[in-house]
Amino acid sequence: MKIQNTLQFKIINPNKHKAKSINTTMRQYRKCVNFYLHEIAKGTPLVDIYLLAKQQYNLQTGLIQTARDVAKEQYNSYKNNSDNPWFPHFKGLMTMRYDHRSISFKESDGHFQWWANISTVNGRVKVPITSCSEYIQKLKDNRFNTVQLKYKKGEFYLNVIFEEERTIPKNKDFKHFIGVDRGSHNNIAVAVVQNKKGRILESKFFPAKQMIEKRRRYMVLRQQLGQKKLLKEIRKSKDRERNYVRDVNHKISAEIIRVASKYPNSVIVLENLKGIRKHMNFGKQGNGKGHSWPFLLLEEMIVYKAHRNSIAVRRVYPRGTSSVCKNCFGDVRRSPSILAVCESCKKKYNADWLGAVNITRRFFYYMSKNLGISESCPKQGKDDFAGSAIASNPFKDLIHHGLLARPIGI
Ligand SMILES: [Zn+2]
Repeated sequence: MKIQNTLQFKIINPNKHKAKSINTTMRQYRKCVNFYLHEIAKGTPLVDIYLLAKQQYNLQTGLIQTARDVAKEQYNSYKNNSDNPWFPHFKGLMTMRYDHRSISFKESDGHFQWWANISTVNGRVKVPITSCSEYIQKLKDNRFNTVQLKYKKGEFYLNVIFEEERTIPKNKDFKHFIGVDRGSHNNIAVAVVQNKKGRILESKFFPAKQMIEKRRRYMVLRQQLGQKKLLKEIRKSKDRERNYVRDVNHKISAEIIRVASKYPNSVIVLENLKGIRKHMNFGKQGNGKGHSWPFLLLEEMIVYKAHRNSIAVRRVYPRGTSSVCKNCFGDVRRSPSILAVCESCKKKYNADWLGAVNITRRFFYYMSKNLGISESCPKQGKDDFAGSAIASNPFKDLIHHGLLARPIGI
């Protein structure tokens, strides 16, 4: 499976002349992309557009070809998206796409350690670049795929995209199962590691308490700002909250991957939450508006990081996972608190933990019935493949009784 990895480098203060060259190139590139878009729409053959573009724009061949690719992608996404009435047209300083023909990187002994050699309308321009040392190390192989040259708030950035091959274990190879329950009660997530026999090896809780308090404070603050009509401040506070949410999701996903990486041949099992809204119990005050947690963002991050670390991801039907006893498969009574009690054997559970355990048990059932057995999909971040990730008739098979399947090996 091919994994894409984007690393960002900053161009260190280019002098006036170089900045101007890059700037002019970006404008030419934008015009060239727009030109391609209009000619493609008119039905002009690509070969002819290329010859015209070559005459009109002072761009290197490689850049004209990536401009064509960008235009083609934009045009297709416009064509295939009936909701979008706007024909794509670019303005301002457009992000450019470079490849091996138009950009290279070089190490030097001088004051600046790394330089990028970029093709512009005024020929090649050499600029020093910087990033964290781990990223710089990656440049040494020079095996990048493409590079995006971006302008943001007065600075130029290079987003270097690397493609790496990863071997993701397949169903028959799975040895360790990390069931992840998201947002069931008072945890943002709970991860439980089991082996093939259903033995619990490790549990990890990510409580929601701090997050709820922090978001409550953001909300109170915005109410106050609203009364004073400080719209700019409200927007700032929203940005800050969004960054906070991202940051927490990043940390949780990183920790889940760290745990999963300790075990060979592991698979992370998630609930399929697409189209389902999870209701966390945030308590009286927190249940109001604005307190939903972006579980799909967390999922996106888990999937992306899992694949980068050669860990597989699978999804199962989400309902009813914390209402079956792990011990005797009896009905579990849910109280408003986190405690769940089995009606048959009276065993007590943390409901979120039980959910995470049963997510994996449901997957055991899928495996035993050949349901939703999927290869990791080549497209990064999307490992649902053509087959259904949920059983065809979840209500009949899976709600509750699907969990009666014994773990493999028992
Ligand atoms: Zn029981």
